[in-house]
Amino acid sequence: MKNDPCEYCGGSVKQRKARVDHRWKGALVVVEKVPVGVCRRCGERYYDASVLRRLDLMAQGKVGSVGRISVPVGDYSRAVAA
Ligand SMILES: [Zn+2]
Repeated sequence: MKNDPCEYCGGSVKQRKARVDHRWKGALVVVEKVPVGVCRRCGERYYDASVLRRLDLMAQGKVGSVGRISVPVGDYSRAVAA
């Protein structure tokens, strides 16, 4: 990925390794150390097509799985009523 300016705000995009919550159809996978471009001004993230393809495979459990986590699932309307 080149360091093109952010297409939303024109800010500079910096390459980082970030934690990503990636969805593919109904599946969700949390992946650490994903190479991603992050806009320093607005925080928009940019992914290479090859990275997205690999994340899709990981969400399908085909490559790179190292474990599972359980997360609470909330209903915001219940939090408001409480
Ligand atoms: Zn931006």
